[in-house]
Amino acid sequence: MKVKGVNVKKRLGQNFILDKNILSKIVNASGVTSEDFVLEIGAGLGTLTEELAKRVKKVVTFEIDKELYEVLKEKLRIYDNVVVINEDIMKVDLEKLAHEYFEGENFKVVANLPYYITSPIIMLLLDCKFIKDITVLVQKEVAQRICASPGTKEYGILTVFINFKAKPKILFNLPPSVFIPPPKVQSSLIKFEILDKPVAQVKDEKLFSDVVKAAFGQRRKVLSNALKTLNIDKEIIERAFDLSGLSFKRRGETLTVEEFALLANNIYDLTI
Ligand code: SAM
Repeated sequence: MKVKGVNVKKRLGQNFILDKNILSKIVNASGVTSEDFVLEIGAGLGTLTEELAKRVKKVVTFEIDKELYEVLKEKLRIYDNVVVINEDIMKVDLEKLAHEYFEGENFKVVANLPYYITSPIIMLLLDCKFIKDITVLVQKEVAQRICASPGTKEYGILTVFINFKAKPKILFNLPPSVFIPPPKVQSSLIKFEILDKPVAQVKDEKLFSDVVKAAFGQRRKVLSNALKTLNIDKEIIERAFDLSGLSFKRRGETLTVEEFALLANNIYDLTI
């Protein structure tokens, strides 16, 4: 299938939005202004890029597809505040990017993400200290997982890791019909406000991450059993539960981000 003369590559998550009203609605919801530096991921045919270019200080956009890149270079040449880069976003050093293109200042992210790598991209963005807020279109199901409450079936590793560093909010949903070609799934625009500091202080990020992964790796088991995969003495785990004020019967999926942090910190203190 071709759109505007370009071959659509499904494996790259190419679902374009051409409707100016929808593009405008996305940019309005992101809250970007003429003062903002903006990173876009996946320029596609440059429709969202164009809407951003008209409203913000500068846009740097990445597009992995060489064929689209050639089209974009031509189309966006008239904007002197747009830089198009033909590179895989997962290989980009975002801090270097801030210095190279954004005068070493903070920047925002606005994008219609390629759905096949939504989570890795969000995790990459959350690790960059220059990013103030992120407004992205994602699969509706993923948005619901990100915003899920403890104890629900949608609550998982992604929820905990994201809510550790950011406050996510679903702004609105979009049906498949607004995309060309239409994806098989519903979509949601989600905005993340990055917290000045994580919701809890974690003494060892790797251990925190291992505890969360172990908890959800066997989410039907009570947490004290699920944590056996960490190969830490049973007594230490029991003591850490005690110190954290947690019952042994709790299942991992019921712990809040703060409770995961507290438990990981107590395990850390007991093992050093
Ligand atoms: N922004 C356009 C729009 O709204 O119409 C296109 C959005 S489309 C959902 C996602 C775009 O991301 C595609 O053009 C795809 O080629 C590009 N893409 C996929 N993987 C990428 C990656 N790893 N790095 C950069 N761009 C990527």
